[in-house]
Amino acid sequence: MKEIIIIGSGPAGLTAAIYTARANLAPLVIAGDQYGGQLMTTTEVENFPGFPEGIQGPVLMQNMVKQAERFGAEILHGNATSVDFSSNPKKVWVGDKEYQARSVIVASGSSPRVLNIPGEQEFWGKGVSTCATCDGAFYRDKVVAIIGGGDSAMEEATFLTRFAKKVYIIHRRESFRASKIMQERALKNEKIEVIWNTEVKEVHGDQVVEKLQLRNTETQEEHDLELDGMFLAIGHIPNVGFLNESLTLDDQGFIDAQHHTRTNIEGVFVAGDVHDHHYQQAITAAGMGSMAAIDAEQWIASQP
Ligand code: NAP
Repeated sequence: MKEIIIIGSGPAGLTAAIYTARANLAPLVIAGDQYGGQLMTTTEVENFPGFPEGIQGPVLMQNMVKQAERFGAEILHGNATSVDFSSNPKKVWVGDKEYQARSVIVASGSSPRVLNIPGEQEFWGKGVSTCATCDGAFYRDKVVAIIGGGDSAMEEATFLTRFAKKVYIIHRRESFRASKIMQERALKNEKIEVIWNTEVKEVHGDQVVEKLQLRNTETQEEHDLELDGMFLAIGHIPNVGFLNESLTLDDQGFIDAQHHTRTNIEGVFVAGDVHDHHYQQAITAAGMGSMAAIDAEQWIASQP
């Protein structure tokens, strides 16, 4: 039996691992198929304090793993598939393998949202993607569209101009929610054109994506846009499926935290994007990871 299990290995999980490992709790980190979470699919991270020149997302995460392992954290590759928090010790399964601990920190993050429109699944990986960093290089001299109006959409549209000859940003309203600096960077890029007040209705193609059927949200008029790829950047949904409804969620489906990082179950704590749909930053996730670690450590110390 472990003192503590941490589910997730993004900035929240790995910071919790560094803190609990330094507190001699020898945490087991259930890291997912690949450690590092969403930052593994980013390029340059410019706003993580301490790196004035920026740092590549995967390098930052690799450093966090090394730092956690240095103090005795054990990293297990695999996804948590089920839990039982109803008694002590708490139980977490990775497939049919069971792990037990006195305390658990859930830092399982969130996953990209999809549109659920005809053609989206059919052309998944054949022109439909949620990861410009992963798939952008396949679109050299091609025409692509980014869907969304947040920071991710701006960042990914700008990134895609390195490869594509033309990048459309298709947004359902007439203003972006992205930060000013990211908007400006995208809008001044000559390869980027914004299609405002527009939704994607269907994805069409033969073997691969060839066109999108678009609808103007004001006039309801429809037209086709010929292109080679569609990238979704429309936010995220929390990874809570494996929790068997054991933890209380908020009205948007993210894990509720009461009293800092505590969940509704004694000894189970939460950190990062699986709780926070507002800030969703690497640094805020890391900060909450340290808070959850301190809360868990104090809770363990208070137990008989
Ligand atoms: P977001 O801010 O939630 O934006 C999602 C966008 O997708 C919104 O513009 C939304 O439209 C649109 N959208 C949502 N559902 C849709 C649907 N069904 N159909 C069409 N459009 C839809 O998500 P995000 O851009 O991934 O950013 C998440 C957080 O990460 C934010 O806090 C952001 O600041 C942060 N972030 C920061 C950086 C950076 O600083 N380098 C980079 C990336 C992300 P509406 O606007 O109409 O709701």
